[in-house]
Amino acid sequence: MTIPADLFEAACAARANAHSRYSGFRVGAAIRLASGEVFGGCNVENASYGATICAERGAIMSAVAACGAIEIAEVLVLSEANPPWPPCGMCRQVIAEFAAPECVVWCVNDSGEGSKRPFAEFFPQSFDASAL
Ligand SMILES: [Zn+2]
Repeated sequence: MTIPADLFEAACAARANAHSRYSGFRVGAAIRLASGEVFGGCNVENASYGATICAERGAIMSAVAACGAIEIAEVLVLSEANPPWPPCGMCRQVIAEFAAPECVVWCVNDSGEGSKRPFAEFFPQSFDASAL
């Protein structure tokens, strides 16, 4: 398993700007679009905890703001946790909105530990209003 260096570096750079004054946990994320473009994000916490935005959603919002319609091919989540943290439930739902069918998720930490799994394994039954 070779962690994609460009995604790791983008997540690392974004994580350096994390606003994590309440949890103390700095998280970075990076996504690769089907077009090949890479976007990073970091957690941005808020005194009103529900207003906190995770790194993964931050990366996705940046990509949508820059590109409009997007399709996500890869997601990398970089945490200080051991084992590395996966995306939370809310982020999984947001990833599902834009994930390519073959989208994969990397969960890694600074020690280079990590895993790679198909996104479909993380979130097999996302809410999909179009299926109603
Ligand atoms: Zn999240």
